[in-house]
Amino acid sequence: MSKILILNIPMHGHINPTIALTKELVKRGHDVTYLINEEFREKIASTGAKIITYEVQNDKKLFKRIFTVMSTIYYKALEIGKNFDCIIYEMGFFFGAKLGEELGIKTVCLTSTFALNNKITDDFAKGKSFLHKIMEIKLLRKLLSIVLIKDKKLRHTDLMYELIDHNPDLNIVYTSRQFQIHNEDFDEKHFVFIGPSVGGRIQDSDIPFDKMKSKIIYISLGTVSTNSLKFFKTCIGAFKNTDVSVIMSIGKQIDIEDLGTIPNNFYVYPFVPQVAVLEHADLFVTHCGMNSANEAMYYAVPIIGIPQRADQPIVANRMVQLGLGEMIDKKHVTADNLKERTMRVLKDSTYKTNMTKMREEMLSSGGYMKAADEIEKYIYEDQFAYKAASS
Ligand code: UDP
Repeated sequence: MSKILILNIPMHGHINPTIALTKELVKRGHDVTYLINEEFREKIASTGAKIITYEVQNDKKLFKRIFTVMSTIYYKALEIGKNFDCIIYEMGFFFGAKLGEELGIKTVCLTSTFALNNKITDDFAKGKSFLHKIMEIKLLRKLLSIVLIKDKKLRHTDLMYELIDHNPDLNIVYTSRQFQIHNEDFDEKHFVFIGPSVGGRIQDSDIPFDKMKSKIIYISLGTVSTNSLKFFKTCIGAFKNTDVSVIMSIGKQIDIEDLGTIPNNFYVYPFVPQVAVLEHADLFVTHCGMNSANEAMYYAVPIIGIPQRADQPIVANRMVQLGLGEMIDKKHVTADNLKERTMRVLKDSTYKTNMTKMREEMLSSGGYMKAADEIEKYIYEDQFAYKAASS
């Protein structure tokens, strides 16, 4: 039995794939403590892990918010971390490797996007958002890194390099080796591709699947980029008066009333149990957040990708390249092209066939069980080596 501390940032996309793994580690008898903010207490409680919460002010300024979250986790973990055998941190917490070194404790990084290196972050930087620009301009990145790093003497003065070039010995990536771009750059000893870590989440719902038409389309832009009234109205324009049922998760930033009249074939919610919905869906109109993409592949649901930000254009491109669906530029989505593409993907069985193959590949990557095996091997490797040497 080992004492394991899990560190994470307060975002669904970073927390969801850790749920099944945490549950499994608890089930295997490890003493697991999860450090997270109060908002996610209930979600983590379902894993059986002990919970220590941190509280962060929800500052409107993005960089202040990131700094506060990172620092709060860092100093709390520094205070309690020495009592643990291993720290598992999600990559969204940039200082994980450094923290482990400071405490003299093994760390494992969980990666909820592609495994990263220079080539891949260069691709990310080709996007047009403010954050993409920061990634592109080294000097600006360095200045912001100084603000974010403050007194935490990291290996690199540029946070980007800290993220891609300061890895622990074990990195778990929630996708398959084949789906990973530039996979030849990531060695098998240090990078383990486990496929999606889906499962373990509470998925109760009263969505009336049995009353729906034979084709179900699910629409979601994830949990961050949801302030898109225009997009959701476009979706209504595309699929009203059609012979499909539409489940639409609009997030918590806009009100359902603002959408106007909801057609009879639409089921609109601020949040849905996505995994349960994907089990029923025939097509997923998605922003291609890595978790949503993974969940689509896990349930073999072809996609229409409408990436919004961050790694999403690259994830969407990869899916299109592998024949798993199609993509529309967010600036050029209209009711007509959305309807036309969706109907095309629904009719052409090649997308479903490719998705089914992809699902098999993802499942064969091992999922959270493989992650738990690898973590145990890594924690106990010194003991194994000692036993082997003395026998
Ligand atoms: N999600 C959900 N219900 C919703 C919308 C999203 O359960 O109505 C979950 C989804 O299953 C996924 C996560 O929230 O695990 C979103 O992560 P993703 O990386 O796709 O996008 P992000 O929200 O980080 O942009």
